[in-house]
Amino acid sequence: MGASDLVRTSVDATHDRLFRSVERCYHFTLPPAWVMIESMNMTETDNHPADSVGVAADRVTIVEVAARDGLQSDPTMLSTADKVELITRAVSAGIRRIEAVSFVNPKRVPQMADADEVMASLPRDNEASYIGLVLNERGFERAVAAGVDEINVVVVATDTFANKNQGTDTEGLVSVWAAIADKARQAGLRTSVTVAASFGCPYEGEVPVGRLSDVVARICEYGPDEVALADSIGVAVPTDVVTRIAAVRPSLGDAALRCHFHNTRNTGMANAAAAVQAGVRVLDSSLAGIGGCPFAPNATGNIATEDLVYMLERMGHPTGVDLDALIAMVPWLEAALEHPTPGLLAKAGNFPFDRSGPPAAAR
Ligand code: ZN
Repeated sequence: MGASDLVRTSVDATHDRLFRSVERCYHFTLPPAWVMIESMNMTETDNHPADSVGVAADRVTIVEVAARDGLQSDPTMLSTADKVELITRAVSAGIRRIEAVSFVNPKRVPQMADADEVMASLPRDNEASYIGLVLNERGFERAVAAGVDEINVVVVATDTFANKNQGTDTEGLVSVWAAIADKARQAGLRTSVTVAASFGCPYEGEVPVGRLSDVVARICEYGPDEVALADSIGVAVPTDVVTRIAAVRPSLGDAALRCHFHNTRNTGMANAAAAVQAGVRVLDSSLAGIGGCPFAPNATGNIATEDLVYMLERMGHPTGVDLDALIAMVPWLEAALEHPTPGLLAKAGNFPFDRSGPPAAAR
């Protein structure tokens, strides 16, 4: 990769290239413990010298999902103006990819009924890329009309959850994605496919690794820009993360890999750390740790963006996000939602402390 490749007008294009380089060479940057685990899954093609990816290869991109995954299962219905403020403030804090809305049936997910109005009100004079989640072609048409920059299509890894969620099996959802893929490309949209229940299913329980890698392989036949492994019900542990990333990697081709963790069983941040150690450079998170899935019982709490940024920066992975600006958003969000939120950093304060010392609550 030449230096000129790094200077692009599109931030996402640059990130894509870097992430793909990282994906190719990540085995050579792992600490010994991770190399031991990963080496069990290595193939011949993994074993080649690292590209010169430079400092930017350590950068991790945050996809902020509070406005979609966070709010859609919250008991409080935020106003359109508050949603726009949430997203606008996140962009001001340095987040560049925002899952802003979903184009779903408003009868099933009333919190997203104003998706078109939210999109129409978002500031466009910035570098933010706004993502719309779509579940079918009708949702896709709405997303295009609303002016999203990216679409995120959901394929559920198990037939039972797929049927409960969307009335068809996994292969049916792959067909939906296949039908959307070409149209999205023609519309100039970046495409992600989130694989829900990648680590466990609320109905079928364990999801075999082979099942997941087969589903990812089917998805990749239609050339997504990115595949996201989602722990929709928060059951994964770090060793699962490492194993499943290694299992799906051979199918990805040019697609970047992204992970989406919930902290339902308090393993979310450990899983995020494992994913980064395994070479993933795009992570979903939700400001203040709000969120869940209205179709998955007890799937509470995405990992908190401010907690994640703190961890990544201290691990040596720049995020480009102003952590103090994020922390300042948490009291505002709690006031808007009228309830406390589960993220921890805003309670404990940033570290190292500024000259005034730790926050009063931590003394
Ligand atoms: Zn989720």
